[in-house]
Amino acid sequence: MSALEEAAARLRGGGVVAFTGAGISAESGIPTFRDPGGIWDRFDPEEYGTWDGVMRLAMTRPDELADFLAELRRTMAAAEPGNAHRALALLEEAGLLEAVITQNVDGLHQRAGSRVVLELHGSLSRVVCLVCGRRATVDRDDLLASLDRAIVGLRTAFVPSLASLLPRCPACGGPARPDFVAFTEPVQGLPAARSMARGCETLLVVGTHGDVYPAAEIPVVAREGGAAVVEVSTGRTFIDSDLRIRGPAGRILPALVDLVLA
Ligand code: ZN
Repeated sequence: MSALEEAAARLRGGGVVAFTGAGISAESGIPTFRDPGGIWDRFDPEEYGTWDGVMRLAMTRPDELADFLAELRRTMAAAEPGNAHRALALLEEAGLLEAVITQNVDGLHQRAGSRVVLELHGSLSRVVCLVCGRRATVDRDDLLASLDRAIVGLRTAFVPSLASLLPRCPACGGPARPDFVAFTEPVQGLPAARSMARGCETLLVVGTHGDVYPAAEIPVVAREGGAAVVEVSTGRTFIDSDLRIRGPAGRILPALVDLVLA
């Protein structure tokens, strides 16, 4: 039996939880943030990846922050769900996959049709109000429009007012920030993700190196709960897996799901 057939046999048993990282979105045009050429290769995450850093940059180097947001805007505008995202949505539709736990903030799983998605690092498709704390979903057009407003504000205002750069909370009208988890902030929904991982039959790990904690605990917790860990990856990883399939997620996952549903 090939590794692909062996993996298909496991997935057919159901109780699958997927755990995804940057690699699954790289094929959709989202550069993996940490790799050479990625956003954190060109913009220091200590500054651009923390909320305090961004606040400071808006005051001291607004043009550079505008460059960063313009880069983010280009990426978000171009990104479309890929074959790997769609394959996972099909697996959920077939009743075999219970949830996707993702480290990505791009919302591509939902756009591909996945319904149960736990976003450990938050989402650029949501804002959280700085005044009342309420969270609200924003669609991609609204996100791009608010990035445009912030970019223009940063490039033209002499001293930009931070509140004027941020989208408004639909509930109270206060300034709201994108609801992604910045560096140094705690991840979101970790207890729910851990309990999903602990209770699953098979954890399907896609496109993650397993070196960013605490998200990297997920495969460990799944294994402790007795799940098989099946990994789809292109390079070396730190994942302790039972079965590893080498290759790009956009090619492997559709083939795997075809085999499962055949
Ligand atoms: Zn509010």
